Amino acid sequence: MRRRRLREINVIQKPTHDVQWRIGLVYPNSYSIGMSGLTVKLLYHLLNQHQNIAAERIFFSADLPGPPRSVETGKTLVEFDLLAFTFQFELDYINAIRMLLRSGIPAYQKNRTPDHPLLLAGGPTVTTNPEPLFEIFDIFFSGEFESVAEIFLEAFISSKHGILRDTILTVPGFYTPQATESQISLKITSNLDEVNYPTAQVRPIKPRKKGILNGYFLQISRGCTHGCHFCLIGKYFRPQRERSLPVLKDLITNGAKDTKTDFFSLIGSSVADYSQIQELIDYFIENELKFTLPSIRIDSGIDVLDSIKQAGLRSLSIAPETAFEDVRFGIGKKISNSQLNEFIQRADQYKIQEIRLYFILGLTSEIVSEAHEIVKFVNNLAASFPTIKFTISVTPLIPKRGTKLENKWVNYKEIQLGFNVLKQHLVRTVRYKSFPIHWAAIQAILSIGGRDLAPKMVKVAELGGAYQAWKKILEKEPNDYYIEKFKR
Ligand code: SF4
Repeated sequence: MRRRRLREINVIQKPTHDVQWRIGLVYPNSYSIGMSGLTVKLLYHLLNQHQNIAAERIFFSADLPGPPRSVETGKTLVEFDLLAFTFQFELDYINAIRMLLRSGIPAYQKNRTPDHPLLLAGGPTVTTNPEPLFEIFDIFFSGEFESVAEIFLEAFISSKHGILRDTILTVPGFYTPQATESQISLKITSNLDEVNYPTAQVRPIKPRKKGILNGYFLQISRGCTHGCHFCLIGKYFRPQRERSLPVLKDLITNGAKDTKTDFFSLIGSSVADYSQIQELIDYFIENELKFTLPSIRIDSGIDVLDSIKQAGLRSLSIAPETAFEDVRFGIGKKISNSQLNEFIQRADQYKIQEIRLYFILGLTSEIVSEAHEIVKFVNNLAASFPTIKFTISVTPLIPKRGTKLENKWVNYKEIQLGFNVLKQHLVRTVRYKSFPIHWAAIQAILSIGGRDLAPKMVKVAELGGAYQAWKKILEKEPNDYYIEKFKR
């Protein structure tokens, strides 16, 4: 398969004679997935702030043979001084190792020499549980990078070859696997108005997918005030912080101009909780700009439905998580079924045409009952609101290290029975999507697991990364989690 030439705007390319250090910003998944989120755009902007540092993006492609190459200049991984990997999903760990192997870079840290690039791991999954990567990466970062971006770049530029690792370790938030727990500090951005945020965001000129890939990503807040028991954001990225309305208005004006778009994707964990959401939406309406919202909490979202209607939005996403009200309250999401019904009724009055509902299966030990309750709940909605197209997305519970559901026992065989119930009993007008059970199980292992996973991950990567490879390795060398959760 041949590499396709990408046409993008706001690509940063620096004159070679100016460049003192090269950073490969690695997103170990596809270009489409990486460019559909804010992380790559934000890090790309932040890392390129210094004129003598050139950061280039590198994505993973399962189909392209040979070493992965940067989007900007086609450089391979070995041509960079530092490879900064950002992990949003645990399953990307295998892609990262495959990228190293394809580039001729030894996967284990102990087998690399000072001639190899330095390997840095960051991102939410690394912040919450870096242990599976301890034998692979040289340095780790915990938290939100913009909080230390300036100090990082200053340290980087003042460093010399041979001492880069030690220099980076002087920056708060960076550590090695040898660090003790008390030496690891989570760096959180305290004031969003004060940190650098890109108005000229890199994006494809003609995206293959419509909508989100093509717009400007406007982060209005970080963190979350709620504490749902399964969620990493509510646990680690606290408190909720907001960009002020005047700053957002400036970003909208300059973002539209510099990113050449009138389409805005609002980013935040719970955007309807933003204290001036009404005023923000009014600003979009007044300026005839289009926008889209991520999943909204219905308790705060109901107040903005009127504005959403005026803005012409025709679809919404909400996350009831479960149809059992007592279970929902039990996991910290204090929203009743009558609130859900009222919200959807109001959305119907406002001519919302499509509602996506997100559910988790496995929150109780009665998984099949959970599925039946979802069927009852959603089929009722479909009958009561025939003009709304409902899509439900169901994910098995994936316990996350450090959350209250960390030790939740998930029987993946029963999840399959639950999925069968949903498939058979949901009315045809409801669109149903589910996350593959086998990958949820592997993700759970990586999310909860420890250092013993590194050799398994390397073997899986050497075997091509498919689920069959995981099965083979885990059958032969099961770890505790695998035995406890899968073999019963
Ligand atoms: S409201 Fe959403 S972001 Fe906040 S804790 Fe709950 S699931 Fe996480």
